[in-house]
Amino acid sequence: MMERGKAESGPEAGSANIIVAGVAVYLQKGDITRQRVEAIVNAANTSLAGGGGVDGAIHRAGGPSIMEECNEIRKQRGGVATGEAVYTSAGRLPATYVFHTAGPVWHGGKNGEGRLLAECYRSCLQLAERLEVTSISFPAISTGVYDFPKQKAAEIALQTVQKWLNKHPGKLKEVRFVNFEEENHRLYLEVLQSLDI
Ligand code: ADP
Repeated sequence: MMERGKAESGPEAGSANIIVAGVAVYLQKGDITRQRVEAIVNAANTSLAGGGGVDGAIHRAGGPSIMEECNEIRKQRGGVATGEAVYTSAGRLPATYVFHTAGPVWHGGKNGEGRLLAECYRSCLQLAERLEVTSISFPAISTGVYDFPKQKAAEIALQTVQKWLNKHPGKLKEVRFVNFEEENHRLYLEVLQSLDI
């Protein structure tokens, strides 16, 4: 069991864990706002206006400074396009940065949703590289109100990150896929096995 309010400094017992190109990859069940990593990824929307789900949880736990920085970004560049990522500091969260990426809304799969979801993961990893971040946590982007099929989303997440890590040796040493829901966490474990990464 997690203790409320306490930062999670490492993967919970029993979580799967693999090494990809020297980077430790953890699949965890938990709350992304509690992760003690340098960067946590927010499944934001294109206007960076805040919302429910993981977005709401990050702003609630991190405090108002994150939204103030989002407002600045909106003024400067109008928000973030689907598949892109921007960053702010992390307010009261144990992380240093929040990477805000806008996932695609699922409209049946024929509108580039898969490519755009992969782009979200790559954009965040590029930001991590640029900021010389050593550890990052991802939520299951687009699988909440954006309705992306969960299994397909898990496949894209794991495959995209694996490919990127293999091509970009750098400072990143730890990637966590953090799922709030048990069901989605199990799905990640199954997909990891079936992909044979
Ligand atoms: P989207 O709008 O991109 O679909 P959501 O926030 O609605 O984003 O959901 C994305 C995923 O994040 C969902 O699988 C949801 O269960 C999960 N989620 C919600 N809150 C948290 C949290 N605190 N930590 C980790 N995952 C979370």
